[in-house]
Amino acid sequence: MPAAAMAPLIALGAVAGVASRAEAQQAAGAPPAAQQLYVPRAVQRAYARGTRSPDGRPGARYWQNRGRYDITVTASPPDRTVRGTEQIVYVNNSPDTLRNLVIKLFVNIHKPGAPRASGASEAYLTPGVQIDRFAVNGAATPWQNDPGFFTWQPVKLPAAVAPHDSVRLAFDWHYEISREAGREGMIDPTTYYLAYFYPRVAVYDDYEGWDTMDFTDLQEFYSDFNDYDVTIRVPANYIVWGTGTLVDPQTVLQPAALRRYQASFTADTTIHVATTADVAGRRVTQPKTNDWHFRARNIPDMAFGLSDHYRWDASSVVVDSATRRRASVQAAYTDSAADFQHMVRFGQRALGWLSHNWPGVPYPYEKSTIFLGTADMEYPMMVNDNSFPDTTFSRFVAEHEIAHTYMPFYMGINETRYGFMDEGWATTFEYLIGTADMGRERTDAFYKQFRVNRWIGDPSPAEDVPIIAPADALKGISYGNNAYGKPSLGYLAVKDMLGDATFRRALLAYMERWNGKHPTPWDFFNTFNDVSGRNLDWFWHNWYFTTHYIDLAIASVAPANGGYVVTLDNVGGMAAPVDLKVRYADGTAETLHQTAAIWQADQRRATVTVRTAKTIQSVDLDGGIWVDATAADNHWAATH
Ligand SMILES: [Zn+2]
Repeated sequence: MPAAAMAPLIALGAVAGVASRAEAQQAAGAPPAAQQLYVPRAVQRAYARGTRSPDGRPGARYWQNRGRYDITVTASPPDRTVRGTEQIVYVNNSPDTLRNLVIKLFVNIHKPGAPRASGASEAYLTPGVQIDRFAVNGAATPWQNDPGFFTWQPVKLPAAVAPHDSVRLAFDWHYEISREAGREGMIDPTTYYLAYFYPRVAVYDDYEGWDTMDFTDLQEFYSDFNDYDVTIRVPANYIVWGTGTLVDPQTVLQPAALRRYQASFTADTTIHVATTADVAGRRVTQPKTNDWHFRARNIPDMAFGLSDHYRWDASSVVVDSATRRRASVQAAYTDSAADFQHMVRFGQRALGWLSHNWPGVPYPYEKSTIFLGTADMEYPMMVNDNSFPDTTFSRFVAEHEIAHTYMPFYMGINETRYGFMDEGWATTFEYLIGTADMGRERTDAFYKQFRVNRWIGDPSPAEDVPIIAPADALKGISYGNNAYGKPSLGYLAVKDMLGDATFRRALLAYMERWNGKHPTPWDFFNTFNDVSGRNLDWFWHNWYFTTHYIDLAIASVAPANGGYVVTLDNVGGMAAPVDLKVRYADGTAETLHQTAAIWQADQRRATVTVRTAKTIQSVDLDGGIWVDATAADNHWAATH
């Protein structure tokens, strides 16, 4: 049944307060039918209200809020105090009257007592964000700096914001940059990474309302699409790299550096915009306090790196063959990071490959900067990566982080709650580009070791939490496997089952429908059903909504008319593809690939017919990257 046929049922249930069929079944103690996905009540309500459509499209009444941010930040290393002033125009596109706002203050993760996914060292701790001035529509408004909230804080507005109205907010704030950099902080005494650095309005969405999830340094983003003008004010000889167009670069760069910078936008080879010697010789920036002004429109976030001794490489690459549009690729690093000398080339490769292969959507921004830091972490138009002795690993990390451009940034994903919609895709793209870079065998071996084996090798129930479980309710191994390896294997299994052409059509439709919006997992599942023309709910349920793991076994190999029937048991339950490696008595062999479709009819047992006139000597199951938890029962041999 196409997913759309469920719509009237869900709508009626939600509007009239009548339990849906799934709820009724659960109340009666019956397990939900395999073909019916759990849909949270909040999402059912969105269908009923018409903000989302059960066929996976945004609904006719879809809305999202947005903001316009004007920010000036002053940083004067080695002084660790970062000061900011900001005006926000926040537009309420919702049908609701907003009497409160929720403000995100991510840097309060550094405050003693803040909820965190893991412990904090002394060097990590700071007093957090101090709001020095708060104003609403121009009127000074009291702000409580120690309210018992940490990374988010509710604010009562003096006057409500009506639907389609807006409110003007102003903040002055300061914080001490952390001596131990995580996703942001002090990289060295005169190199700072500024991310999550400004007060912002939390997402207020159509299915859950205000986002009041804590930022715990584990899950990463849920952001509205805003317009930004950000000025970073730094002393002479500091270079600033960051999200957005550098406005009036001639006001901050000396003429020779400016010429090299501008040439890089059409260059294929790496241009050294500023070498270490140029920076040491103070030949790069204008000899004054400089305002580095960056502008970006309709983007989920801004991040910046600044240093008085990093070198600067740049080049560009064609990301849209139709229009010949190029994107700039830049790298900022120290001479000690030998692998970073290759980063512009790695970045060109990643932008070009992702644009033209998978997902096959032209890189949506004007640039990408790879900044030497400590996080291995993505930001729009920027990644903050460690240096590694193994350059292959450096490339791998850069490719993964740049792949995040599509999820969560291009797609506005709520990865704090549904990490698998973001990390799962970055892990999938990382695998696909890795295969192109290094070949299938090496990539499979690395992917198994890095993304799969820990999950499959560990019998702890913490490994088997359903992927759909809210990521903000998880930590440790449950979060890690659910966000990365498990969902990625699921996406790759769907690709294997649908074939590349159909998979691509469905993926591109999902990306086209939800670019710049906030898709839920159900919007993704339903779009794939809708566009592929197949109801894959049995697969989504099997892979994303259960405690299954990968463990197949050969139950029997029996002679049958015209060959053999191989019966497979699905011990772990997960609908995994598998290769049957068949050896015949005459010394020949063949591999019979089975997609996950063999588990559609009966998810516990499947049969594979081997048509042959030969005698089978042995059969082995080889899951490849779909690593099997119990190897011992994957072999069958004829007894003589
Ligand atoms: Zn990632």
